[in-house]
Amino acid sequence: MSVPVLPYGRQTIEDDDIAAVAEALRGDFLTTGPTVERFERVFAETVGARHAVACANGTAALHLAMLALDVQPGEAVVAPSITFLATANCARYVGAEVVFADVDPDTGLMTPDTLARALERLDGRRLRAVLPVHLRGDAAELPALETLAQDAGAVLVEDAPHALGTTMKFGNATEQVGDVRHSAMATFSFHPVKTIATGEGGMVTTNDAALAERLRRMRSHGMVRPEGCEPWWYEMPEPGLNYRLPDVLCALGLSQLAKLPRFAARRRALASAYREALAPLAPLVRPAAQPAWSDPVLHLMTVLIDFEAAGRTRLQVVEALRARGVGSQVHYIPVHRQPYYRDRYGDLDLPGAEAWYARCLSLPLYPGMEDADVARVVEALQAALSPT
Ligand SMILES: *Cc1c(COP(=O)(O)O)cnc(C)c1O
Repeated sequence: MSVPVLPYGRQTIEDDDIAAVAEALRGDFLTTGPTVERFERVFAETVGARHAVACANGTAALHLAMLALDVQPGEAVVAPSITFLATANCARYVGAEVVFADVDPDTGLMTPDTLARALERLDGRRLRAVLPVHLRGDAAELPALETLAQDAGAVLVEDAPHALGTTMKFGNATEQVGDVRHSAMATFSFHPVKTIATGEGGMVTTNDAALAERLRRMRSHGMVRPEGCEPWWYEMPEPGLNYRLPDVLCALGLSQLAKLPRFAARRRALASAYREALAPLAPLVRPAAQPAWSDPVLHLMTVLIDFEAAGRTRLQVVEALRARGVGSQVHYIPVHRQPYYRDRYGDLDLPGAEAWYARCLSLPLYPGMEDADVARVVEALQAALSPT
């Protein structure tokens, strides 16, 4: 018999979520219907943005952001190396070149310093966008990143799937991830491991009406209906995609979004229990560092482990955890090391990303966990790291 495994993350779907989907299924619209707009409106209000545009998934959200900015082949987009593949790939979808930024080895975040160093490697290309990732749920230092991007003639696009609910304090102002005060757009994902789930699903927020209009147009084939045209008429100024999020999934999204305060409070409580339980394991194990300005709703409970000092490889620890019913995951393999990017840009020297990758491991964190699970995970980790 295998021990049931706590996954590193999972969705929380309750009876009323299922009822919301069933109601949408009985309605007239399976795909484009009134629930799409309602989900967008409530999402925009929730994060404090003027516009929100729903789309097929977080990767589509990033691609749409590149299209909305009209990023051209050969232009440059900066992405941190510690992120999911999609953050970098979206630049390639529009033919732009990715300039990988290093990260702080203890937070995993792109910093003003690592961005400044990336900007020295533009090779004369025109910089269009910088994509900070709020890794794990902790916020990147947006005001300083914004200044650097602006001075280089570019805008920020926040890749924010980890940070729905995270607040930030810069000076006296309390801000929210997604309110896009420092960026042109922020992108979200509703993949099952993210803070709210629709299966596949994504969102882009912006305060710029023209960008919102372009996002909507490119989401649905690039079609527009000029005012006063015949009922069958549509025009296509440039080709777009079918990146729509169906009405049925927007109904699930709305139902999930109503639970965000509860999900966020639960994630915060679990993270704080983890911090307490993990304290005795220092200095061998430390939670990823939290920047001073960030008050996160953590998506991932990532710890940094000194495997060498423990005399254990990461694989041994992962397997020992699994044997005790504890799932874990690595977030992330540095993207610049992927064969595709290595072939394209050669071997980059990004020591912060390497130091992060060498130590990181994400432990289970999701609202459905029991309080006792935290102790169980930490005990399993302690055992996995002890000499046998
Ligand atoms: C999940 C995620 C994405 C992609 O979202 P999908 O909905 O899976 O396409 C992009 N960037 C980051 C940082 C993510 O965590």
